[in-house]
Amino acid sequence: MQITFFGAAQMVTGSCFYLEVGQTKFLVDCGLFQGASEERDYNYRAFPFNPGDLDFLLLTHAHIDHSGLIPRLCQQGFKGRVITTQATADLCKIMLPDSGYIQEMESEWNNRKRVRQGEPPREPLYTADQAREALNFFYPVHYGEEIKAGEGVTVRFRDAGHILGSAILEVWLQENNKQIKMVFTGDLGQTDQPIIRDPALIETADYLVMESTYGNRFHIDHGDRVELLAEVVNETAATNGKLIIPSFAVGRAQDLLYHLKLLRLDGKIPDFPVYIDSPMAVSATETFRRNSQYFDEDTYQLLRQGESPFEFPGLHFVRTAEESKDLNQTEGEQIIISASGMCEAGRILHHLRHNLWRPEAHILFVGYQAEGTLGRRILDGARAVKIFGEEIIVKAKIHQIQGFSAHADQTGMIKWLKRFVAKPKAVFLVHGDEEVFPEWEAVIHKELKLPTIVPQMGQSFDLSNTIVAEESPVPSVKDDQEILRHTLHLLDEEYLDLRGRLREKESLVSAEELEDLEELTKELKRINELIKQTV
Ligand SMILES: [Zn+2]
Repeated sequence: MQITFFGAAQMVTGSCFYLEVGQTKFLVDCGLFQGASEERDYNYRAFPFNPGDLDFLLLTHAHIDHSGLIPRLCQQGFKGRVITTQATADLCKIMLPDSGYIQEMESEWNNRKRVRQGEPPREPLYTADQAREALNFFYPVHYGEEIKAGEGVTVRFRDAGHILGSAILEVWLQENNKQIKMVFTGDLGQTDQPIIRDPALIETADYLVMESTYGNRFHIDHGDRVELLAEVVNETAATNGKLIIPSFAVGRAQDLLYHLKLLRLDGKIPDFPVYIDSPMAVSATETFRRNSQYFDEDTYQLLRQGESPFEFPGLHFVRTAEESKDLNQTEGEQIIISASGMCEAGRILHHLRHNLWRPEAHILFVGYQAEGTLGRRILDGARAVKIFGEEIIVKAKIHQIQGFSAHADQTGMIKWLKRFVAKPKAVFLVHGDEEVFPEWEAVIHKELKLPTIVPQMGQSFDLSNTIVAEESPVPSVKDDQEILRHTLHLLDEEYLDLRGRLREKESLVSAEELEDLEELTKELKRINELIKQTV
């Protein structure tokens, strides 16, 4: 039994883990490398295994850094099933061909440059058509279902709360008489995200492969974010301008619609027109509509009351380029949500060109803006920016709301980790920028006393023997005492949380909440006694 890390090792993109159990070989994710050019070069290397030898692939979610090399894998001989949830399969129907189209465009552009430099042209990684062919390998399954994926491998998909269809994988590996359980977090979402359910709590694992994106960062409170959104919309109403929101087409755009819908229902914002101007966001919203079985309780209740989060008077889905251009002619207050989220390409560029120079316009950033992107330059206060070769001065009011993230922050991930009753023997930390790991590892050691490993690209680990992490803290307490301490810790946190909330409300404490508090206090005392007895 062996795992090898062929991507997302000390970097955020290119997720790809290769596992061997007896004769069975499979991958967890096969993502595109994005970002710096040294990382993107990995996309063109020969796969470090034979794709034709793979029995299957388990896909955690549709994001391109997890799914984006599947078409290339299929082109190079992969014949197995891509096992994933229905919603992920549906989203991949939109996202993979779109990625293929981008590959074709990029290769055309790069090849012009290569030819000028006397180098031979390079084929695109894959085309939109090849991406469509890859979709035939997809095999959708349900959350919670135990699936025998291959000889010696059983898998269960659990909610990851990251984007629609995203999953944490519980994978049981059996070789000879030995069984171990691996858990892959995929990308782990925040709790209380709109529309989708919270990340499932997992109680046991022998080994955990955990994402680390925000291992050293903290998000602002959920309620505050929505309040801020209302403020920006109201400010736009006051200046009678347009509010332009650059947004990821999948996930973030739908979250925004959900928040806008609720704010309107509560009368907190005026009901001026809202435009979704991105073909991908329009298709993704349709996919969300079709997959309502994955919605959380709140969204489900909304649907039962006959209210869809993706429909309200004045909401328009803009499909054609013509309709998009017409938007530039319209006057008055309106909200335009468009992609790409970092303003690098897409229709957002036209909206910025037509509005950045207007003092009455507002631009709202709700997503991370990477170094070097147009979004980042605007956010950093550039007085003028170049769009389509034309210099545009920036007079619009620039806003940013942080924390609209599909990833849990450090607090969220630690909370999730604490729910393990049987602790993993080691935690492999992946999917993070290099500088995240020192703090992230230290926090896990301190809070959970768990051994951590930050694997290197291409590094393998034998899972049949206990892996000893270097410099790992050694838990030395007796098991039952450890579990009691764990429970105590959870209760302690709940207690503090509840107390914090009560303090905020001051006099408005309900009888029920008081009762909860008393119950918790009693439970804490009881467990403290138990611990004293076992020492
Ligand atoms: Zn993701």
